[in-house]
Amino acid sequence: MLTPGVTPTTFELPRFEALLGPDRTAELHAAAAVIREALDGRTLWHVNSTGKGGGVAEMLHTLLPLYAELGVRVRWMVIGGDERFFALTKRLGLGLYGIDTGDGPLRAAERDAYLDGLGPAGDRLLELVEAGDVVVLHDHQTAGLVPRLAGQSVEVYWRCHVGVDEPTEASERAWELIAPLLDGAHRLLFSVPWHIPERFRDRPASVLPPFISPFSPKNRELEPESVTAALIRCGLRRAGGNGGPPVTVIAETAPGPDEKLLTQVSRWDRLKDMEGVLAAVTEFVPEGFLALVGPDPAGIADDIEQAMVFDRCHEAWRRLPPGRRRRVALVCLPMTDPGENALLVNAIQRASQVVMQKSLAEGFGLTVTEAMWKSRPVVAAGVGGIRAQIDHGRTGLLVGDPHDLGGFGALVTSVAGGGADAELMGARARDRVRRDFLPDQDVIRMARLLRAR
Ligand code: UDP
Repeated sequence: MLTPGVTPTTFELPRFEALLGPDRTAELHAAAAVIREALDGRTLWHVNSTGKGGGVAEMLHTLLPLYAELGVRVRWMVIGGDERFFALTKRLGLGLYGIDTGDGPLRAAERDAYLDGLGPAGDRLLELVEAGDVVVLHDHQTAGLVPRLAGQSVEVYWRCHVGVDEPTEASERAWELIAPLLDGAHRLLFSVPWHIPERFRDRPASVLPPFISPFSPKNRELEPESVTAALIRCGLRRAGGNGGPPVTVIAETAPGPDEKLLTQVSRWDRLKDMEGVLAAVTEFVPEGFLALVGPDPAGIADDIEQAMVFDRCHEAWRRLPPGRRRRVALVCLPMTDPGENALLVNAIQRASQVVMQKSLAEGFGLTVTEAMWKSRPVVAAGVGGIRAQIDHGRTGLLVGDPHDLGGFGALVTSVAGGGADAELMGARARDRVRRDFLPDQDVIRMARLLRAR
């Protein structure tokens, strides 16, 4: 069913239905029936740039098995690419987030190289799709496939998971390259309304918020012993015996038994600002143990910057005064075993007294939703999709300016110190996820789009 190399997690539909209750379950099945009818035996395709790591892959690992269980024919294709291609798409992605990389505008030659880089994926897709299929292309990496699908009698949706709150010169330049490629898309999909660029105001565009899977290894309930064992494997709990943890950890020690765990889980991406979290917590949060948790940067093929950002965090960690360095761990999770990775993220989020997400820009932070589902109080930057995820003061806390380290640190301190009602905030956060950010909502919205054609 899926592209080789992509391992789906299963989706436990009966359990999900019990969580949804009868009315929502009926709505989900009605939506699936609409999609099946619209496809009339054809296939719903999802195409993105990676099978593991990052929010889009995470969602597809949920959505594909769910659709399959609902009787919808679905397939997932992951485009490959060489280093040059992913260097270009990284620049494009940062541009769409409003960041000027200082490399100047992407010129015609680079645009051609981007399209050339997509050549093999386009050829493969053309061999696979059939008339009547519906193809959802995810993010800027796949935008250049839209023209390749012209004349194939397939319906093309382009789903954008990134965005900028206020357009910048860099975001406009990135859109200038991407927007013309999207002319042939039947509909454009965005995570939040304020990420739909003005230039698309006359195009069919819809909002489709991202979601999490409640019972996947990343989010399911865990026994306390499993959490403890996972923390030991990540060097975040002291274990008896000799030898270090199997996961690569940069740390002098594990947190003490009464030390509160303050965590950010993110890719090592400059926009996640792990360095800023390190500075904010070590300077402005007097107590607690900081865990910066991300994928092992060795061997990440589709994102060339991660090793660099990790090295900068490592350097910042080394330069901390000893008393502060003792309170910080950089945890690199192995990405070779998706189940183990998910379990470790799950355990760390559950064990955290505060989960942070101090992104400088964000399409929609799945890590935020994951922590909210676990009833964790989240302190985040009020940027991008996070503003739609957290209602400040009710379901989490937001700092208005993501560069305000002191303000961010003060919020973390208040939650960690019991000053904010963390328990109530966490309970409300879980309810919010149950209502708005579970995958049935995605199926229901997709059915509406297909019915409205
Ligand atoms: N993630 C993970 N292991 C890591 C770091 C992140 O599994 O070491 C997951 C995280 O749990 C979340 C996704 O990657 O499911 C990141 O999604 P998000 O929307 O927060 O950010 P993105 O990476 O898509 O920008």
